[in-house]
Amino acid sequence: MARVALVTGGMGGLGEAICIKMAALGYQVVTTHSPGNTKAAEWLSSMEQQGFNFRAYPCDVADFDSAQACITKITEEIGPVDVLVNNAGITRDMTFKKMDKVNWDAVIRTNLDSVFNMTKPVCDGMADRGWGRIINISSVNGQKGAFGQTNYSAAKAGMHGFTKALALEVARKGVTVNTISPGYIGTKMVMAIPKEVLDSKIIPQIPMGRLGKPEEVAGLVAYLASDEAAFLTGANIAINGGQHMY
Ligand code: NDP
Repeated sequence: MARVALVTGGMGGLGEAICIKMAALGYQVVTTHSPGNTKAAEWLSSMEQQGFNFRAYPCDVADFDSAQACITKITEEIGPVDVLVNNAGITRDMTFKKMDKVNWDAVIRTNLDSVFNMTKPVCDGMADRGWGRIINISSVNGQKGAFGQTNYSAAKAGMHGFTKALALEVARKGVTVNTISPGYIGTKMVMAIPKEVLDSKIIPQIPMGRLGKPEEVAGLVAYLASDEAAFLTGANIAINGGQHMY
């Protein structure tokens, strides 16, 4: 039976590239979308036309009960989750002076609480079955900080603390837990930045002189999910064109 890979927030951007890569490798791919996403059916049917047999479930990853209910449904209808990619995330950028509690909470809940909410209902099962992969999509801005992103940088840095602690707890159970920290990748989130800002401020920070491609991140996810990556756990892998090294 095909392994089940659950990618949160797979309808677009990095998540979509990860879904496509995992499907190409033979996983049964399941994704989630926000409960209010009105384009979910359209996305699924366009993917179906391209030959992909994805399953998709509504889930507010920021909400514990919604995450629990979603995992229960996936387990009943498809099977237990073998690979969890915590990819869903948002930004609400503003300087700390302007940062209010609403935008702080939204980013912490969606990027960091979500990792707890989604991992909690799948982790024991992975350990009991003796195999599992948890892959957390963080950000270069969680590693180095970013102007206007106290909320996002805190959440993304927090993800890696979670990764390291959980990796220790499940290391002997065949379950690996890793963080990927992408730099600027050419998705909608980044392409929304005005071109002149991209060209004058962002690209010059990247030694490779270009944005990353979603497929490049997806390839790394695929490797971390594979059997060959069994000895790799608790790592934070930077994929940023040389923008930040440490
Ligand atoms: P997108 O905005 O394209 O995708 C984000 C996804 O998260 C969407 O599919 C969205 O689903 C989902 N999502 C947001 N909030 C919720 C929620 N409450 N419940 C469920 N799903 C939710 O972003 P990217 O593809 O660019 O980014 C993907 C991940 O990679 C994020 O975690 C981001 O922080 C990280 N990242 C991205 C970088 C980049 O350069 N693009 C760089 C570094 C990290 P829906 O549309 O259904 O709401």
